[in-house]
Amino acid sequence: MSDLITIDGSQGEGGGQMVRSSLALAVVTGKSVRIENIRAGRSKPGLGRQHLTSVRAAAEICNGEVTGDELGSTVIEFHPAAVQPGHYQFSIGSAGSAMLVLQTVLPPLLTAEQPSTLILEGGTHNQWAPPFDFLQQAYLPLVNRLGPNVGIRLERFGFYPAGGGRVVVDVQPSPRLAGFDLLDAGKVKRRQVSALVANLSAAIAEREVKQAQRKLNWRPDEMLVREVKANGPGNVVFAEIECEHVTEVFTAFGRQGVSAEKVADEVVRDVRKWLKRGVPVGEYLADQILLPLGLSAAQSTDTPVQRGGSFLTGNLTQHSLTHIDILQRFLDIGIDVSETEAGVLVAVQPN
Ligand code: ATP
Repeated sequence: MSDLITIDGSQGEGGGQMVRSSLALAVVTGKSVRIENIRAGRSKPGLGRQHLTSVRAAAEICNGEVTGDELGSTVIEFHPAAVQPGHYQFSIGSAGSAMLVLQTVLPPLLTAEQPSTLILEGGTHNQWAPPFDFLQQAYLPLVNRLGPNVGIRLERFGFYPAGGGRVVVDVQPSPRLAGFDLLDAGKVKRRQVSALVANLSAAIAEREVKQAQRKLNWRPDEMLVREVKANGPGNVVFAEIECEHVTEVFTAFGRQGVSAEKVADEVVRDVRKWLKRGVPVGEYLADQILLPLGLSAAQSTDTPVQRGGSFLTGNLTQHSLTHIDILQRFLDIGIDVSETEAGVLVAVQPN
């Protein structure tokens, strides 16, 4: 089979993101992909429920053919066909992150010929995955800056382990993706610490905001306690910093054996680190924005819009480095990384 790209899933970051990004890029480019050694180094190697849902979702949005799509599978082969925008519902069937399924199917739908509506069911607020609020406040505004209009709303919270969350996504695509340069966050316009509890005492969230306020010294009206409904217990603290050119969202999850104050301290540490570093793009946003920027860089040359772009970030994580690698396997683009005084400059350009 021509155009079969083989990805060794044990390389680089070696986790689920390699699977999801490879699938997304396969659908976008129409190139077939074989992914081997999936999550080889993880304690439970192979496809978990969330990854399996992503594999099947990628196949569904393009009538693609897939082999190896089973729980625990360490090899899949995927042959995509043309993207079919439309109405889709993807349910993980566990508390696995539905937000990571969105990461897989969204890129190809951004430039589709018709709008799409997605219903995603599973976890909406999972540790080690982008929470709904991060996607809504930080990630999607940057995606929308490329031209599409993606709206997202939360219908039900889903926390680990009960799951049961539901998110609706409306995608108004754009045939052209404009690039952007994000070298400066600009002035801070709004700050907010929110502590959420579901089926737990509100006192936990109150202690979290109290601690965050004491340490950050933000105003009382920048602190919010929310009691929300969910199938099971959940506790999460966000710090959101909206600047002129970017919004960043920092998150910590309450968990057994960790005091409310310690959870708040985790968010405070990330906020301070980002403010001190003075770069617009935090580590999670960096690895996630690379793919949409790559798509904009890979567009055909006759487009009268900026192709690709650049951003300043702190140190690149393994996720980002792996992403940089995979993007260049699928797309005819170059990604340059250089250390500058202001931070690490990542430039995503057409070849
Ligand atoms: P694994 O194989 O390690 O179990 P996984 O499929 O659960 O992998 P990863 O491959 O680790 O997930 O990818 C996690 C994704 O979630 C990354 O894109 C990362 O940027 C994002 N992420 C993790 N934590 C946060 C956070 N607090 N805020 C925003 N995004 C996050």
